[in-house]
Amino acid sequence: MNLNTDWLIVVQGSNILTAIDKPWEILKASALAELLVDDGCSYLIGDYFGQSCHVIELEKDIDGYEWINLRSQLGRAPDMQYQLASRAIQLVTWMKQHQYCGQCGANTHYHEIESALHCQPCGIYYYPRISPCMMCMITKGDYCLLAQHQKHAGGFYSTLAGFVEAGESIEQTLHREVMEEVGLTVKNLSYFSSQPWPFPHQLMVGYFAEYDAGDIIVDGEEIIDAQWFHYSDLPQVPPSESLSGMMIEAFVQQRSLVSADKTLSRDTE
Ligand SMILES: [Zn+2]
Repeated sequence: MNLNTDWLIVVQGSNILTAIDKPWEILKASALAELLVDDGCSYLIGDYFGQSCHVIELEKDIDGYEWINLRSQLGRAPDMQYQLASRAIQLVTWMKQHQYCGQCGANTHYHEIESALHCQPCGIYYYPRISPCMMCMITKGDYCLLAQHQKHAGGFYSTLAGFVEAGESIEQTLHREVMEEVGLTVKNLSYFSSQPWPFPHQLMVGYFAEYDAGDIIVDGEEIIDAQWFHYSDLPQVPPSESLSGMMIEAFVQQRSLVSADKTLSRDTE
């Protein structure tokens, strides 16, 4: 690492180190040089403004700095900065959990070019764990289906979501999860967007789907309530920085335009 030019992200779990009373920014390695002598290894995670950016994990506190949760910076910090910190947190968590080879038990070592952990005796590379998770917004004309998850009981209503199982396509996951969670069949899937969610290693993949058939029957475990909501009368929903929030916003916008179009054509008839 070049202490004069390189950047450093210091992490602790899902928290990042930031100077007290300042908006969070990626720090110059020179400002934290003493950490690099005392504590653990640093790992190269990418480029930032043309210079290398590294991550280091730290257990202790530092005078003049505090820990903030990375989630609080979603939609607030610049994209590139947020993305590097996401990567930093995700890689550190994963490396901590994969210090040994699962096949022979030897220590693994980080291979910077491959961005993978390497077991020398076995010659195996272990790549970062990324778990695809489908997210589905079911629509029926001006209505959309939103569900309350057990873990958000009493709180917001959201789109459906579920992890992709081994051997499944994302579309198969979607049909299976929708049936399991609310007892419906859907059709006409259309891809919306994706979002990395490094808490700890999801990649959310968002789809719209149209209602096909069935009556809502919630599973009662993961989902405690699910209802059709008119786009103009939604319950509390996730923030618009999350993929779920973005999908709900896109739906509301689309239906508002359709409604405005209808009004316009009525008026001009
Ligand atoms: Zn091995």
